[in-house]
Amino acid sequence: MSKNKHPETIALHGGDYRSDPATTAVAVPLYRTTSYQFNDTDHAANLFALKEFGNIYTRIMNPTNDVLEKRVAALEGGLAAVTVGSGQAASTFAIMNVCQSGDNFISSTDLYGGTVNLFTHTLKKLGIECRYADPSDPNNFEKLIDEKTRCFYAETLPNPYLRVFPIKEVSDIGRKHNIPLIMDNTAAPIICKPLEHGAAVVVHSLTKFIGGHGTVIGGALVDGGNFDWTKDPKRQPLFNEPDPSYGGAKWGEVVPQLTGANVSFAVRARVCLLRDLGAPLAPDNAWGIIQGLETVPLRMQQHCSNAEKAVAFLQKHKNVDRVIYPTLHKGEIGERSKKYLKGGNGALVGIEVKGGVEAGKKFIESLKMFYHVANIGDARSLAIHPATTTHSQLTEEELLAAGVTPGYVRLSIGIEHPDDIIADLDQALGASGKPSLKAVS
Ligand code: PLP
Repeated sequence: MSKNKHPETIALHGGDYRSDPATTAVAVPLYRTTSYQFNDTDHAANLFALKEFGNIYTRIMNPTNDVLEKRVAALEGGLAAVTVGSGQAASTFAIMNVCQSGDNFISSTDLYGGTVNLFTHTLKKLGIECRYADPSDPNNFEKLIDEKTRCFYAETLPNPYLRVFPIKEVSDIGRKHNIPLIMDNTAAPIICKPLEHGAAVVVHSLTKFIGGHGTVIGGALVDGGNFDWTKDPKRQPLFNEPDPSYGGAKWGEVVPQLTGANVSFAVRARVCLLRDLGAPLAPDNAWGIIQGLETVPLRMQQHCSNAEKAVAFLQKHKNVDRVIYPTLHKGEIGERSKKYLKGGNGALVGIEVKGGVEAGKKFIESLKMFYHVANIGDARSLAIHPATTTHSQLTEEELLAAGVTPGYVRLSIGIEHPDDIIADLDQALGASGKPSLKAVS
């Protein structure tokens, strides 16, 4: 159904789902069940032995999640997806699916603050080392490779810098060394397809644009089916050495044999990591995210066109020192937005309000329609001051490396009418130079 279809169609019809086989219900049903009745003991044994694929237990799979997984995979142009309880879980699973204690991976310095914490501290405690490369020069990734490097990791459209990642350039370097590139595409669904540019895996926080309504936390890993996990067995031991936890399975070999598809990454993440670490996406949440996913192509258009209008307004405003937006970067970095973003340049906009930290804080407190929240990608417009919130656990050095200057305010432009968005920005910027009513009362 999804082949050769456009995103607007895939979002509504993708995922092999036409109607519920039991009831003919058209909307995707919510299967609130932990378990599934086996036909007989052979059937149960075959499912556990992966000789047959089917539902076993909702920690590992669920029919509602299955539709969401297939639709997310189809929207990204991948072969299979696995949903998990949050975007953070998706990033964790992506790394743990290729790295074990003693291994390393190379990540872009342009990252969500929560991911920096995960990579720098929590994974380190598990013996997995993250090496950071500045993406302004893709060759920085190659310089850090050694024989224990298992993957590259980056975000398509990372805030606060909002410089688009050189996906093909870094993926080409990785492929020379049989190293897969994992892309967090949370901020750019629909407008960028990292798999088409050579990434091997995409992860999403479904909490953001795909869910789209600020109601549900969720994450997904998409297997691009375009990476040969068996080509260099020493480079990818978790896919080539027998897994004692699954009867000695060599995942890189056994999955294509069983399924006829190159989905070893997705299958290993599901049957090993979801089995052992838990963190499934609850079916209720999968259902909620499907409601958002069905309109994400349409919403992305409106997010992006509103953001362009807000940027044009902000650039001319006397109380704004600087506007940060993917297309405003000069030279090669600006060119990357043309190369990788199609149909829009995203909803995220950064501004430095004239007057530094205090003016930035006053601006946020003076917004009447924008919500002041730690989220992006809601249908509503949002604002936050990263240095004191989302990125507050980073050191000063890490903050600057991530592009978080003290006065930076991050805006996630919603799908309200653009005139109302601009009116709210205008009145808040006007208030940012003098005491707001709130401060006086
Ligand atoms: N990746 C990016 C780019 C994010 O912005 C976030 C959350 O802000 C995450 C991952 C983590 O997602 P979640 O909040 O769903 O765990």
